[in-house]
Amino acid sequence: MELPIVDSKIHDLISNYETRDPFHLAKSLNIIIIEEDLGEIYGYYNRANRIKMIHINSKLDELNKRTTTAHELGHAVLHPDENTPMLSKSTIVSELKIEKEANYFATNLIIDKEKYFEECNYENARTYGLLNHYGLPEHFARYI
Ligand SMILES: [Zn+2]
Repeated sequence: MELPIVDSKIHDLISNYETRDPFHLAKSLNIIIIEEDLGEIYGYYNRANRIKMIHINSKLDELNKRTTTAHELGHAVLHPDENTPMLSKSTIVSELKIEKEANYFATNLIIDKEKYFEECNYENARTYGLLNHYGLPEHFARYI
């Protein structure tokens, strides 16, 4: 799959459902999210009959649940009928084409580049980068 095709799928999802939130998108697309203890596995996508499912490790923190859901949503949208590998520490850096596509999907779904560069002039971008780096909320920018 060419990346511009992935871009247009992301664009269609965002304009149809008016959100970049992978949890909301999964729900809108009738994809069931199941949280369970998966041990070392972050998550995986599968399909039983016509039902699409995303399995997420309940032990992950909220941020990693979101990233994993976005990655698996990528499979559900881009590779609905393929047997995709389970996501883990080792497969998240996989060079497999479908894995790279799912990571590309997740990154460009979550990040709203245009909005970010529109709202942040260079100085703000640096400030927010600094706050994020130290895990401080963005409204602390006024104290720097
Ligand atoms: Zn994957």
